[in-house]
Amino acid sequence: MSFELLVPKDEEKLFSLMEEGDYKLLAGGTDLFVKIKKDLLSPDRVIDITGAITEPKIAEKGEKISIPATATFQEIAESPLVNREFPVLAQSARAVGATQLRNMATIGGNVCNASPSADSLIALYLLNGELTLADREGERRLTINDFITGPGKTKLTRGEYLKSLEIPGISEDFTHYFEKVGRRNALDISVCTMGYLLKKEEDGTVEELRLAYGAVAPKIIRATSVEEYLQGKKLNRENIAEAKKLVRSEISPIGDIRGSAEYRKKVAVRLVEKIGNTSNSANEI
Ligand SMILES: Cc1cc2nc3c(=O)[nH]c(=O)nc-3n(C[C@H](O)[C@H](O)[C@H](O)COP(=O)(O)OP(=O)(O)OC[C@H]3O[C@@H](n4cnc5c(N)ncnc54)[C@H](O)[C@@H]3O)c2cc1C
Repeated sequence: MSFELLVPKDEEKLFSLMEEGDYKLLAGGTDLFVKIKKDLLSPDRVIDITGAITEPKIAEKGEKISIPATATFQEIAESPLVNREFPVLAQSARAVGATQLRNMATIGGNVCNASPSADSLIALYLLNGELTLADREGERRLTINDFITGPGKTKLTRGEYLKSLEIPGISEDFTHYFEKVGRRNALDISVCTMGYLLKKEEDGTVEELRLAYGAVAPKIIRATSVEEYLQGKKLNRENIAEAKKLVRSEISPIGDIRGSAEYRKKVAVRLVEKIGNTSNSANEI
């Protein structure tokens, strides 16, 4: 690997460095360095952004919780605030890699890498996460769904970086669930990821369901046909069977070395049965 490594100590310096020549931003490096080593990227300059973020703490901001883009998955998994307010995000953080990786890999890198199998994206799609992007001219806000345009593709522009993520508060009546199906429990890219937020009436009827899938389409998807179908219904065998048919028609996985398209479909359909589980710790590794 041959590049100039630049480590700006504040945002102003970061903006100046992004004005010059060819560059790639660096956070934990767990995606970037793999790509550079494989010759998929060969930047002349690599700019480490981790010293430029002035608000490095996960914190409450009014009705939202703000997470700096450079927060590592270990910090997110251990954050009392995240565990209390957004168990699904803490669960997805615990599912990333193994301890060494979680200590390096950042949520901002996971978002900007925009892989359809990225674990944190399931939680961010369910929680309607918003992103703050900053450049020299100021800041702009985009929803996670608007920011990611395809596999590995985002609306990040030259001179801009992802500064933080803001997650709106959610009623504590929701059950949070995240599950990752892979060939082994750690250090694996998933065959399929699924998560949901479920709020039920006292009689067991679904009041609100949010359901998201990863690795079964070019982007994370919200299975809106299932969300709408199950609203106001009981989670009985008949309704779950219908929901499975809807999932099958909503997803379009590709086959690769981790699993064929048909296998991915079967896994995604089978995971519908998990809706209704009330445990918050389904994916603790
Ligand atoms: C062995 C191994 C296991 C893995 N397991 C998992 C897993 O289980 N689940 C999972 O989801 N991922 C996994 N990954 C992928 C990777 O660890 C994650 O995507 C990670 O979150 C990337 O974060 P990073 O800080 O290392 O990003 P980097 O590699 O530093 O950056 C990734 C990309 O995002 C850009 N970028 C980073 N931060 C910003 C920012 N703030 N603003 C603008 N652009 C930015 C970089 O320029 C680069 O293009 C694994 C990777 C490896 C090598």
